[in-house]
Amino acid sequence: MNDATREVFGNIAPWMQVVFFVMMAASIGVLVWQVVAHVRLWRKGQPGGFERHWRVWIERLVVYALAQKRVHKKSLGALLHLLLFSGFVVLTIGTTLLGIAHDGPYDFHHGLYYLIYELTMDVFGVAFIVGCLLAMYRRAFRRKSSLGHNRSDWWLLGLLFSLGITGFAVEALRMHYTQVQPPVAYWSTVGWLIDTTLLRGIDVGTAQTMHLAAWWLHAILVALFFATIPVNRFLHVITGPLNIAGRPERPMGALVQLKMEEVEKTGRTGVAELEEFTRQQLLSLDACMECGRCEDACPATATGKPLSPKAVVIDLRGLMARGGGDVHATIRDETLWACTMCQACVQECPVLIGHVDLISDMRRDLIGQGKLSGPPAKALQQIGNQANPYGRPNSDRLAWAKGLGVPTVKSNPAFEYLLWVGCAASFDPRAQKVARATAQLLKEGGVNFAVLGPEESCTGDPARRIGDEFLFQQRAQINVETLARHKVKKIVTPCPHCHNTLKNEYPQFGGQYEVQHHSTLLAGLVGAGRLSNGASTGEPITLHDPCYLARVNGEVDATRTVIGAATDGQFREMPRHGKKTFCCGAGGGRMWFDESPAQRVSGLRAQEALATGARTLATACPFCLNMMTDGMAGTQGGENVKVLDIAELLLSRRTPSSAGVRSLQSEAKSES
Ligand code: SF4
Ligand code: SF4
Repeated sequence: MNDATREVFGNIAPWMQVVFFVMMAASIGVLVWQVVAHVRLWRKGQPGGFERHWRVWIERLVVYALAQKRVHKKSLGALLHLLLFSGFVVLTIGTTLLGIAHDGPYDFHHGLYYLIYELTMDVFGVAFIVGCLLAMYRRAFRRKSSLGHNRSDWWLLGLLFSLGITGFAVEALRMHYTQVQPPVAYWSTVGWLIDTTLLRGIDVGTAQTMHLAAWWLHAILVALFFATIPVNRFLHVITGPLNIAGRPERPMGALVQLKMEEVEKTGRTGVAELEEFTRQQLLSLDACMECGRCEDACPATATGKPLSPKAVVIDLRGLMARGGGDVHATIRDETLWACTMCQACVQECPVLIGHVDLISDMRRDLIGQGKLSGPPAKALQQIGNQANPYGRPNSDRLAWAKGLGVPTVKSNPAFEYLLWVGCAASFDPRAQKVARATAQLLKEGGVNFAVLGPEESCTGDPARRIGDEFLFQQRAQINVETLARHKVKKIVTPCPHCHNTLKNEYPQFGGQYEVQHHSTLLAGLVGAGRLSNGASTGEPITLHDPCYLARVNGEVDATRTVIGAATDGQFREMPRHGKKTFCCGAGGGRMWFDESPAQRVSGLRAQEALATGARTLATACPFCLNMMTDGMAGTQGGENVKVLDIAELLLSRRTPSSAGVRSLQSEAKSES
């Protein structure tokens, strides 16, 4: 066993070896030439946009490229991808090691190493072939509509499968004519099985001739494979890791800051021509493997709106291949406005494509061209004029607090927490109850807090998501100055959108605060025994996780802690929950867009909530509260379900008086 090894090029004449190496060099030359052509297309974009820290590159490559974190799922697609990927990686490494052992200064291809090498290559070779077969089966019989499909996919799968089969044929024929015997033969298990069954009775000379033919077929297929990578789906094996490493590091909830000096220099507020995207964004278009994961998660696609995040990427890629030009001639305005910026597509994409950045850049250009009209345009106008999208005088900001004795920054300048109420909870009659419940609970929990009152103004979140970056930056600068004037360090807010903007986007303007969503602070108060657990109605309850709390900012436990304190184990999760929640339809400024009832995301979400059998739907966002109240009202059976913010729930359930519970619940119902 110590002498166990195998020949390399044993049956291949020297002149054939020269032809082989020339063929491989030509094939790799074609590959490099075509990749360079892609790089030239990416270089048409704006310089920069790439992540520069190599530690981030390595971390991401390990997590997303090698460990394939986003591909793990209990699905046929995930299984076949794992088999194909692991098979391809191990066979490539194995072939490289063989080349090094044969042509390099070290001869290590023998003994125990050789035996383990042979077994490993056989195991992963089988995995690779099974992966190919499963991929063919899925494409032929189980293809979901979101999975991209081209004729070249069949060519690629056929090529990969043939590579696997001819590889084993070469192994078996070599073993046959070199007369490899057990126990060494056992380690090349597949080759030995073929040798002892299919090749039985074939003489050595015939086996040698057959080996030569199989070897050449295998070599030609390898050369074809390399030369055609850039024109088929396999390109993502190159572009995917490049994009995974190169995508700039930023919190998911922070959009790119438009630099005003840049605007003055270029006159551009967004992206109108493809070349106005960054080079990294253009590279990302080529990284798409058309897996359809983004489309499957998209609430706009699910409700029949004219938006598929996958189609946006593929259409822009098509435009890039045609030489670039006007993005709005390729991506319709309706497509861009349909996005709720829920980030589900971004969360799902295995190669970290930034769909929301692409859409946001094109929206900014539409706003620059004055292409927005109707209610959303009015909301922006009102943010500019009245500092809130509801068009109410900002002096009314404390109307919700009437009779509660809520401390303000003037009456309590030594506050620990600033309660940032947000526009919805300040002005929307239904959401005002959330502000009242939150303030009451903070008081009861002994929190030293204050509100800004009329000094608070819209964070600018809806303006930024809709695409009006100027308006957003104006509001951000004013608010950062206000917060500095009152020496604010800690902020608590019942609005996940304010929470996200204050925490992730205001640092772009020098605003650094410790920002908590009210669920986190309330959960802390419950944990510390500063808010009593209450009487339960015993009714089943479910939770709609707000996108900007759960998915974008990763907060999923605090809401459940608060619900746990307010109920007695009757909690039921929806299938899409936690970080994998589903949008309510209000984000991205969609709150102010008209929508036909059939296309309402909230209706779809209400059905999911109803299917749990819950009689109460809790949420933790004033916009979700409104959307889900509408969604329930428009869904059969939804009229019997109460929709409450977690603060309202906690306040109502911890009150021993059942009259108190009934009063708040009936208030909520009468609003719906
Ligand atoms: S952010 Fe949400 S709505 Fe927009 S494209 Fe992505 S998944 Fe669809
Ligand atoms: S953009 Fe990402 S998630 Fe969507 S199809 Fe392409 S690779 Fe898949």
